Amino acid sequence: MRDTFVHKGRRKHLVDYLRDRLGIKDEDVLKAIGTVPRHLFMESIFEGYAYEDRAFPIAAKQTISHPSTVAEQTELLEVRQGDKVLEVGTGSGYQSAILVSMGAEVYTMERQRDLYNFSYKKLQELFLKPKFHYYGDGFLGLPDKAPFDRIIVTCGAEELPTELLKQLKIGGKMVIPLGKREEQILYRFTKRNDKEIEKESFGKYRFVPMVHNRE
Ligand code: SAH
Repeated sequence: MRDTFVHKGRRKHLVDYLRDRLGIKDEDVLKAIGTVPRHLFMESIFEGYAYEDRAFPIAAKQTISHPSTVAEQTELLEVRQGDKVLEVGTGSGYQSAILVSMGAEVYTMERQRDLYNFSYKKLQELFLKPKFHYYGDGFLGLPDKAPFDRIIVTCGAEELPTELLKQLKIGGKMVIPLGKREEQILYRFTKRNDKEIEKESFGKYRFVPMVHNRE
């Protein structure tokens, strides 16, 4: 598959939709979504729908998130050029590509071997390589690489992974869906200091579950 003018045109429509209908304001997020070829992260049978606001199955019974979810989560993360960002749940690699294209220093983790292999190869091919691409359990984070400016979790956790909060810098932010398997609430945690953590909530979502251990 290639990235043609048809795909570029569809991406532009998607960006207009995210800005005008969903109210996404962060121009850096919109620019990244307008740049990264989402169709190349999915199976070719879905190519014609890649720029609709839909989630699609990827390997290992996982999904590539809706573009609106990627846009909203990334906007909430308030990513700036050079930020050191930990992503839990690499999946297809699309969200990682968005973060890399925004100039973040990305550390990404995936527990499924097939998805780790797929995303590693894909991001390399597209010259959107994260700084560190790791096959491992995101509940543990990356203590050796911590602390991070930002942490984004793209799977739904039933309980708050406290290890991740520890790996956040003072002033750092973590965006994470929390709740039962069927439905989660998206939260943003901001670490004010070692004792004080601000918690904000941003409505209902449905993510694939965050699961312990590698597979
Ligand atoms: N950001 C991805 C979304 C993929 S879905 C994208 O843009 O395509 C979420 C991913 O989280 C799945 O691939 C799933 O395998 C992974 N995941 C679930 N629990 C995890 C854990 N404990 N550690 C790392 N990855 C996990």
